[in-house]
Amino acid sequence: MTTTVRTRVAIIGAGPAGLMLSHLLAQAGIESVVIDQRTRDEIESTIRAGILEQGTVELLDTIGPASRARTVGHRHDGIELRFDGEGHRIDFAESVGRAVWLYPQHEVLKDLIAARLAAGQDLRFGVTADGVEDGDHPRVHARDADGVPVEIEADFVVGSDGSRSVARAAVAGSRNGSFREYPFAWFGILCEAPPSSEELIYSNSPDGFALVSQRSATVQRMYFQCDPDTDTAAFSEAQLWDELQKRVPGTTLREGPIFQRDVLRFRSFVANELRRGRVALVGDAAHTVPPTGAKGMNLAIADVRLLAAALRAFLLESDERLLDAYPDTASRRIWKAQHFSWWMTNMLHVTPDATDFDRRRQLGELRSVVESEHGRAYLAEAYCGWPLDA
Ligand SMILES: Cc1cc2nc3c(=O)[nH]c(=O)nc-3n(C[C@H](O)[C@H](O)[C@H](O)COP(=O)(O)OP(=O)(O)OC[C@H]3O[C@@H](n4cnc5c(N)ncnc54)[C@H](O)[C@@H]3O)c2cc1C
Repeated sequence: MTTTVRTRVAIIGAGPAGLMLSHLLAQAGIESVVIDQRTRDEIESTIRAGILEQGTVELLDTIGPASRARTVGHRHDGIELRFDGEGHRIDFAESVGRAVWLYPQHEVLKDLIAARLAAGQDLRFGVTADGVEDGDHPRVHARDADGVPVEIEADFVVGSDGSRSVARAAVAGSRNGSFREYPFAWFGILCEAPPSSEELIYSNSPDGFALVSQRSATVQRMYFQCDPDTDTAAFSEAQLWDELQKRVPGTTLREGPIFQRDVLRFRSFVANELRRGRVALVGDAAHTVPPTGAKGMNLAIADVRLLAAALRAFLLESDERLLDAYPDTASRRIWKAQHFSWWMTNMLHVTPDATDFDRRRQLGELRSVVESEHGRAYLAEAYCGWPLDA
């Protein structure tokens, strides 16, 4: 027996992109159905992004008190770049008068899910999309956790189903996209320890990159550059602390039991098409970035802001102009973020085949950023995020 559902907008994926889109559509009185293949528990407990641009926090404010980004999250007015034995602060407030917030992605998702369920909106966990059919009434072919087929017929379908998107085939077909691979990955740990530093430290050392980050008064998130094929079990706890410590000279890291470890491979990718007919892509389904610039989740939210406005005009006023413009408008920010993420990654990591020339040039590049008011301002502007309406 097939379950058939009819809605105005079918949204595949309850990540930050899908959930924020459903919220913005609901504000405009547009009904949607959101499906996700994972359980609520899995979604709310997967550790991923942690840095919110100012514009993302302002958009989260629109869900009201359900958003705890400002109350539980921490505002950061700067970061440190460390290289050649010295730390250099990039002061966001001084350079661009903006800030970022440290608030984990799974907490953002808890807030968005709570707000959506409190408003009685349709959100289905454990429902997997197998494909999307375009047309005047596009359809999502899916199945629930028991394997029962679910057909969702809508006026518009949005693929917010992450980097392994099934919706992408309906939009981009076999014309996949542009991408770049990197010869390194991040080894990430979560540990029970108080912060080693008040602000994030992005450290370039002869042994490779490390990021010292914070989560709460008792839990810390840290990363160091590793080979993409590294096994998470390859290091003992003592070896992990040694790897981290030698890449952050000048700071004594506060150690504690490590309770999660993962290897995060990264690549840059942009799909060749972001919309075809009545199907569009947002977030990681449309593009991925290496995590060094902290852009992934924020870029997903920026796409959604544009697409929500386009869908409002299309579905409520039959005005298709913003929808037609969506791929070009979104691409402008996507490629700026791609550049920033690529630039931060290359400036801070040490490639396995780096020569003496490469290493000295890299230090020259870092110095030209931190010693220039304009260099610091570019980094601060991109890191805190370009205004969402631009
Ligand atoms: C370790 C790590 C650290 C990161 N750090 C940062 C950071 O500091 N700052 C930052 O901005 N970004 C960061 N990112 C990137 C950020 O997490 C992603 O860019 C963000 O999650 C993208 O949101 P999204 O909604 O587009 O996709 P996702 O969050 O991937 O959500 C997609 C959803 O779709 C569901 N789905 C997939 N396929 C189907 C299907 N066929 N049917 C139904 N449901 C489906 C998935 O279960 C998932 O819930 C990080 C990522 C990782 C992995």
